[in-house]
Amino acid sequence: MTLNKEEKASKLKAIKSQLPADSHLLIVSKTRSEDEIRAYYELGHRDFGENRVQELAEKAEHLKLTCPDIRWHMIGNIQSKKIPQLLSVHHLWAIHSVDDKELVQKLLKASDKLTDSVNIFLQYNTSKEVEKSGFEDYASLKEAALLLSSQSKIKLLGLMTMGTVRTDDFETEARRCFKDLNRNKNQLSSDLSKPIKTSMGMSQDYKIALEEGSNWVRLGTMLFQ
Ligand SMILES: *Cc1c(COP(=O)(O)O)cnc(C)c1O
Repeated sequence: MTLNKEEKASKLKAIKSQLPADSHLLIVSKTRSEDEIRAYYELGHRDFGENRVQELAEKAEHLKLTCPDIRWHMIGNIQSKKIPQLLSVHHLWAIHSVDDKELVQKLLKASDKLTDSVNIFLQYNTSKEVEKSGFEDYASLKEAALLLSSQSKIKLLGLMTMGTVRTDDFETEARRCFKDLNRNKNQLSSDLSKPIKTSMGMSQDYKIALEEGSNWVRLGTMLFQ
């Protein structure tokens, strides 16, 4: 079942009313139709996230005329061979899923073809679940961050994480993960002398993420059903 326009409008309003000044909503539109994305765009929303390069590239191409101010965010695993396709997406604004140093190096190498700069979130594995990707310790995170100099078209904006999925107490676990990300954020911000944002919180745990000061909550399910 999909929501009609009035239902979408009230969902959006309800969520936006919970966002503090420096917290933003990323609508995760993976598997949703282009009409559903356009409906939220027409309600004034601009930030949309996808987790597969192919799907992102197709949607971006189809929506570039009707949604000219859209800002696309990549939030899923990125295979090296898909990097050129990813960086050629119209209105690609950020990549939240940069999960190792090799990927940073490959993005930098491919970035000379970019006309606009792209924001990067380094993904940190706070849950330590084996299937989750991301940096595993502060030293490797900092090493990757230092590769992103201010001159490059690929700019360090922040850190991203996901809370633990397999747990009997997801609220406690989510809070632990978000606090862990904040510790790394504060350390990095101090070591690099620059502000670092956070991307954390999904439909099930976004309220906890906002309490922990998340700058970007990534919400899919609760906005579409
Ligand atoms: C799917 C997804 C989300 C959104 O999850 P919902 O539970 O649908 O809100 C957020 N972040 C990432 C990385 C995702 O893959």
